[in-house]
Amino acid sequence: GYPRIGDQRQLKFALESYWKGEKPLVELEAVASNIRYQNYQTQINAGINLLPVNDFAYYDQVLNMSTLLGVIPSRFRQENYDVEVSFRMARGRAPSDDAHFCCASHAPEKSKAGYAGAMKKWFGSNYHYIVPELEADTTFSITDERIFDEVAEAQSVVKDGVDVQIKPVLLGPVSYLYLAESSEGADKLKHLPELLAVYGQILTRLADQGIEWVQIDEPILGLELNEAWQAAFITAYAELSDAPVKLLLATYFETLGAHLTLVSQLPVAGIHFDAVWGKAQLTEVVAAINADKVLSLGLVDGRNIWKTDISETLKLAESAHHKFKENLWIAPSCSLLHVPVDLASEQKLDHELKQYLSFAKQKLSEVALIAAALSNKGISASASQAIRSEIAQNTQIIQARQQSAMVHNAEVEARLKEINKVALNRQSSYSERTVVQRKKYQLPLFPTTTIGSFPQTAEIRQARRAFKGAEISQADYIEKMQAEIRDVIARQERIGIDVFVHGEPERNDMVEYFGEQLEGYAFTQFGWVQSYGSRCVKPPIIYGDVSRPTAMTVAWSEYAQSQTDKIMKGMLTGAVTMLQWSFVRDDQPREVTCNQIALALRDEVQDLEAAGIEIIQIDEAALREGLPLKKADWADYLRWAVDSFRLTTSGVKDTTQIHTHMCYSEFNDIMQAVAKMDADVITIETSKSQMKLLNAFVDFEYPNEIGPGVYDIHSPNIPTVEEMVLLIDKAAENIEIERLWVNPDCGLKTRGWRETEPALKNMVDAAKILRKCIHS
Ligand code: GLN
Ligand code: ZN
Repeated sequence: GYPRIGDQRQLKFALESYWKGEKPLVELEAVASNIRYQNYQTQINAGINLLPVNDFAYYDQVLNMSTLLGVIPSRFRQENYDVEVSFRMARGRAPSDDAHFCCASHAPEKSKAGYAGAMKKWFGSNYHYIVPELEADTTFSITDERIFDEVAEAQSVVKDGVDVQIKPVLLGPVSYLYLAESSEGADKLKHLPELLAVYGQILTRLADQGIEWVQIDEPILGLELNEAWQAAFITAYAELSDAPVKLLLATYFETLGAHLTLVSQLPVAGIHFDAVWGKAQLTEVVAAINADKVLSLGLVDGRNIWKTDISETLKLAESAHHKFKENLWIAPSCSLLHVPVDLASEQKLDHELKQYLSFAKQKLSEVALIAAALSNKGISASASQAIRSEIAQNTQIIQARQQSAMVHNAEVEARLKEINKVALNRQSSYSERTVVQRKKYQLPLFPTTTIGSFPQTAEIRQARRAFKGAEISQADYIEKMQAEIRDVIARQERIGIDVFVHGEPERNDMVEYFGEQLEGYAFTQFGWVQSYGSRCVKPPIIYGDVSRPTAMTVAWSEYAQSQTDKIMKGMLTGAVTMLQWSFVRDDQPREVTCNQIALALRDEVQDLEAAGIEIIQIDEAALREGLPLKKADWADYLRWAVDSFRLTTSGVKDTTQIHTHMCYSEFNDIMQAVAKMDADVITIETSKSQMKLLNAFVDFEYPNEIGPGVYDIHSPNIPTVEEMVLLIDKAAENIEIERLWVNPDCGLKTRGWRETEPALKNMVDAAKILRKCIHS
């Protein structure tokens, strides 16, 4: 697959103006068709022989699969299917406001009646898919004709005589079912036979269009599947082997683990294997797959932005080439959807760094070069010379990166080596710390606080933009931000909050703000990748050893503290989240990069403490989503993730109170790790589940303080005092009141003051009522 957003995010803009009613459907269709046309041309010109089709989607490829199969939730069914149905499935019946927010779970609330399908992360990537919904009355039948039209469209682009074929891509039946949610809660696999029948019809129609190969993605083969799901693969592919096309079964993002034997025995014509993310298993895979099958090797990283080491890759492909000969295909490791479109668009990137990078378009050329180098036979001497010199050039750049002074910082590397395990513990245990902290802060029961950001008004955004564009001076900018800080302090005083925040007006984004101030981070102009629907993100690039030239937040926090007698909480983004929402260097383990960030943050924490900031919150919004796909790998990840938090925080005095915030809900799997982080206070998202999610903490007997979110910041509704009293009360049933904090679910930057101020007032009143109850 190839990115479908367009090189200038054309699809996003076309979609959004269509949704707003500014443009008719035909205009959206024209933009889409043009993007597909450009993508085919780009791939053909790069020398790609099999063009993926049906990698395009207005919104999401899993949603495409649902409409193709006729899996339309009953609340959206109508007589004749049209594209509007799919938009409703994705966005809900009422158009939602697509304002800025931190992550998918924080998308603005959709209207209840025609509520949108749930959104989930695609196998640990930052892409989100719309979860298919199976209902008691779901039937399967070809409903959306789009794929067949797109095949015909692609065929018209391919000229006779060129060595190019169309290869439609489908999400496989087993993965599709696995990802679906069933409202009956019953065994989803019972739908398999019916589903397979429709897949059979789809494949037959594709064959009728002259298609020879169809790629079927089964990414769940990278997970650890139980026996029933493994058996489903045998059933499914036995059935589909009757189809009049050749199937290329594609997996990615992981090794096949214990499923290799199963996969090697499936009656398919070819297997695609991710040799980048599954490299550890490559030799085994080459040995296990029969040479009469096609082996498509994913040798170019489709999820990261680094230039491929061609000569290293050629060595890697050698034994596969030896065994499979012309049955060896070369490909990106996965869909290129996960990388930005074209490096050539970047005008401001450092020249040296740019050499080390490769975006989707450049990756196509790498694929073609690897293939050309392998099939060197029968070409002219000059062509063969050209290939050799391209590889030599590549090798030079790869070596330059390995030795680059831009990448390596001896000081950082030396400091990291010195940090030994002892440094990861706070001076005393939580039970001792809490005694000194209580004495020092004298906070009431149910202390109230917020998660960090306050409404980001148009004026704030405007001021940041003007400063970035050098339209206003630094002094003016600082004054504007300080005025904002004074304003939020006055509001918090009026509301009666106990622990204050400065409101984060200076931050556009919780990762970008820090990345921009750290060495080793770079930012692109156009490095957009689709996150979901029309929403794209521009992840920063961690290219080198990370260090902190100067303090990043101290001046703001110090100023804020100077304006009030209340305690001002400092606010940082944690190392794991910094890592998780960036493109990370591939020349050292993620653990090492994470620790470098943690070390920089540790210095920041200590500087904050020295500046008189006594409560410091470190947000780890992405800790859970960093979990590897295979459970067997979780323990190792959690070890270094937790250690990075401890490295960040362990240098402070016992009286300094460390908070962390995690904006998600499922803690069951990671409770032990969360406890090991040993934050004095953790704030979490619990209001939507009516505090059910607290159970994980209760069952685990989580020992430190907890702030279960008492109101949902994703909704503009103003929660009442009673609602919040009930929620806190519920929490207090299972958690000692001495350890309970009162706070919203997450930061308030997407909200307006109109609802924020009364909501917080009610929250503070709720805390006050409970305090009274306790004392009377
Ligand atoms: N401190 C951040 C804020 O309040 C936390 C955001 C998040 O966890 N997503 O915006
Ligand atoms: Zn949050």
